[in-house]
Amino acid sequence: MKSYDPFQTDAAHVGVLNDVLDSVQKAPAPKVVVFDLDSTVFDNRPRQVHILREWGIAHGMPELFGLERTHFVDWDLMTPLVRLGIAPERAQAVHADVKQFWRERFFTSPYCLYDVAMPHAPHYVRGLHARGAHIVYLTGRHEEMRAGSAESLVRFKFPAPPEARVTLLMKPTLDIPDTDYKKSAFEAVRGIGRVIAGFDNEPAHANALKEGFPEAKIVWLKTDRSPANDVPRPDLLHAWGFAGATL
Ligand SMILES: [Mg+2]
Repeated sequence: MKSYDPFQTDAAHVGVLNDVLDSVQKAPAPKVVVFDLDSTVFDNRPRQVHILREWGIAHGMPELFGLERTHFVDWDLMTPLVRLGIAPERAQAVHADVKQFWRERFFTSPYCLYDVAMPHAPHYVRGLHARGAHIVYLTGRHEEMRAGSAESLVRFKFPAPPEARVTLLMKPTLDIPDTDYKKSAFEAVRGIGRVIAGFDNEPAHANALKEGFPEAKIVWLKTDRSPANDVPRPDLLHAWGFAGATL
C-alpha cells in the first residue's frame, strides 16, 4: 500500500470540486455542506508521527526520531516501525506498549494540535462558506477533543466556531461507533438546512451520507480509510483531496 498524496488531481476530481462550488452558489439558503475531519480536512499522520517519536525517544528506541508521515500507510502501528527499518521481531516486542501509549494520547485535545490541514482544504471550505453555505463538521471525534479540534480549525484558517454558519458536531463519548453517531446526527443536520454536499474519506460514512441525503452531492475522498472493507456506493463522487478547485 502507498501513502496517499493530497496534491493528487485529475480532470474528474477538479470537476467534482467545482461542481460542488457551483451548486452551493446557486442553492437558496439555508444550505449546508458536511465535512468529516480526520483524513478529510486534516492529515492525522503528523499526530501519529509525534506520538511514536515521543514513545521511541523516551523508551529506548530513539531511531523513531526518523519517522515521517509517509511511513504511515494504514492504522497498524507495526507498519511504520517496520517501514522505518526496525526489525519485525523488535517491532512486535514493543507493539503492545506502543499501542497503549498511542491510545492514551491519540484521542485527546492536546494531540489534535499536531494535525496538519490537508493542502488547499481551508481555502476550499472557506470558498463554500463565502458562497453562503453553513459548514457542518461531522466527526467521529468525541467531545473531549472539542477544544483541540476547534483550535486546529482556527490555526489553519478554516471557517470555525463561533463564526456564523459553522457547526462542529462531535460524539458525546469515545465508545460510540463513528458510523452510528454520524447517522444519529443527520436529524440535527437537517434542522440546519438543506444538505447540498458532503465529504468523507470513509466509504461507510460517505455511503451513510448518500442514504441520508440522496439529493446531495456526496464526495468520497480517497485519502486513507479504516481497515473495514466497505464498498463505496456507485453513486458517490470521488476526489483525491482539495487541490485544483477554481475558487
Ligand atoms: Mg475520516
